[in-house]
Amino acid sequence: MSEALYMDDSYLKEFEAKVVSVKDDKYVVLDRTAFYPKGGGLPWDTGKLVRDSESFNVVFVGKFDGAISHEVDRPGLKEGDVVKGFIDWDNRYNVIRYHTAAHIVSSVLHREAGARITGNQVSPDKLRVDFDLERFDKEELERYVQVANDEIRKGVDVKSYYLDREEAMKIPGIVKLAGALPPSVEKLRVVEIGEVDLQADGGPHVRNTSEIGELVLVKAENKGKNNRRAYIKIK
Ligand SMILES: [Zn+2]
Repeated sequence: MSEALYMDDSYLKEFEAKVVSVKDDKYVVLDRTAFYPKGGGLPWDTGKLVRDSESFNVVFVGKFDGAISHEVDRPGLKEGDVVKGFIDWDNRYNVIRYHTAAHIVSSVLHREAGARITGNQVSPDKLRVDFDLERFDKEELERYVQVANDEIRKGVDVKSYYLDREEAMKIPGIVKLAGALPPSVEKLRVVEIGEVDLQADGGPHVRNTSEIGELVLVKAENKGKNNRRAYIKIK
């Protein structure tokens, strides 16, 4: 297991850690990390690990059996090394702005249109939302994005805290994406965005919705049957 520092601080850009293991000269597991691994519809963090003055670029981060593995671009790191980690902050900050926006858009689509969200894909430069909805009307979608913007402008604090699984599961709709929650999880990290959204979530977010900015619907696709897809950008 690696201690996931990003769970309690989405704004941590630098940290110190010890190398626990190195596989194939490039897959590095640390005792603690601020690097977010690919998952939950979010991309992984890029950045670097530095030992003394030697720098190793982190090109991929994934989670395997509870261990967060950092793929570096060259060999040299050894078990027991003490390293400093640096997150590529511009990338992370855009991801957390889009990620927090994803919560708000999903919640608005559900509340206003009764849509069921089937998937979110967050990138540093756009958000893709897949949802189930009978009607397909671009103007109506534009309106939902404006409702999301109204919520964003309220400048609501984003809070995260832990609840026992049993207690959390009493809250209706807390697990929004089907199959998102492994049964082994005993404590749930819950993310609350004012009155807008409350759900189990392991990803990083902004502290206040005002950091997101203004959303624009750039494309809406009809994927057939009830499947709709929207691409949203921050202006
Ligand atoms: Zn989230």
